[in-house]
Amino acid sequence: MLPNDGLDMLDDFRVEDVLQRFVRGHVLRVLFYFRHGVLPMRDAITLPELIKEFGDDESCRRYIEALRWRKGVICPRCDKPATAVANRSTYDCDACHYQFSATSGTIFHDTHLPLTKWFLATYLLCESKKGMSACQIQRTLGISYKTAWYLCHRIRAAMLEVAPEKLSGTVEIDETYVGGKKRRWRPKSEKQVVIGIRQRNGDLRLIRAEDARAITVRDIMNMHLGSHVEVIMTDESAIYPYALDKMQKSLHRTINHTKEYAHGDVHTNTVESAFSLLKRGIVGTWHKVSAKHLPAYLDEMCFRFNNRKNQFLFRDTLIKLILSPNLEYKDLTAKVQDAA
Ligand SMILES: [Zn+2]
Repeated sequence: MLPNDGLDMLDDFRVEDVLQRFVRGHVLRVLFYFRHGVLPMRDAITLPELIKEFGDDESCRRYIEALRWRKGVICPRCDKPATAVANRSTYDCDACHYQFSATSGTIFHDTHLPLTKWFLATYLLCESKKGMSACQIQRTLGISYKTAWYLCHRIRAAMLEVAPEKLSGTVEIDETYVGGKKRRWRPKSEKQVVIGIRQRNGDLRLIRAEDARAITVRDIMNMHLGSHVEVIMTDESAIYPYALDKMQKSLHRTINHTKEYAHGDVHTNTVESAFSLLKRGIVGTWHKVSAKHLPAYLDEMCFRFNNRKNQFLFRDTLIKLILSPNLEYKDLTAKVQDAA
């Protein structure tokens, strides 16, 4: 819908831009509606729009159906077309007569949680810049803490990039320590080491490392740096001369942080700003993160950061949820017990 409120405050260019997008978007929406019987997700959706469009389970189910089967409903057992059963939200396979629903075989199926709450939680985790804690989801959606915690973990698991692209161009690398309270008698090793690699004007990788030794950093770098890296920026930490191979050393530029933050374009400011966002997330949102679950939080942060310009982030995360295997509650809690 065209936002009327405050429209007259926009300048001419802005009005023209909005109108063009509206007309173009409206034509595409009508075409999509006739093809799939459901409205497509437009540009960045707002919370009121989400509630209006997906306020009941039927509209959520139809959207899942549209995302799952672009060219008509297909039987998940034999890949043959299926027909909707009248007055029921199920389909009957034309070939093997298996009956299934839009959520069958997906993460949404064996859940007592309404689809509307799945959609809202996914939206909130996508849209909040620093993430959202299970406590906050619990209060916002009016569900139990256990349900909220499990829900957040499953959405977070779906956000995981299975095979992220290798980074190239100018990359900044730095390490930081998170978690653990500042107590004099606690050894530094109680804190978790996080290695950050940021491609300038590109993606971010945050990786939990066992330690900050050169050999560990070298393995992480080799896993994430592609062959088209042109410059490697770090501070003057003693790790890097040992972590870099001969070829990487020729691309290495360092900044002495005891003297200055930047020397021309030699700096590690963009990876450090990602670290501060991470720390604000841990302190302000998640409050504490167990060592076992830290990689999942890091992946969630990177996913949101790397998709910061993606207007279809909510839709894309839903697609990832539809495709993702279920993460069993007992597996998640077993991991916690293992870590304790
Ligand atoms: Zn079938």
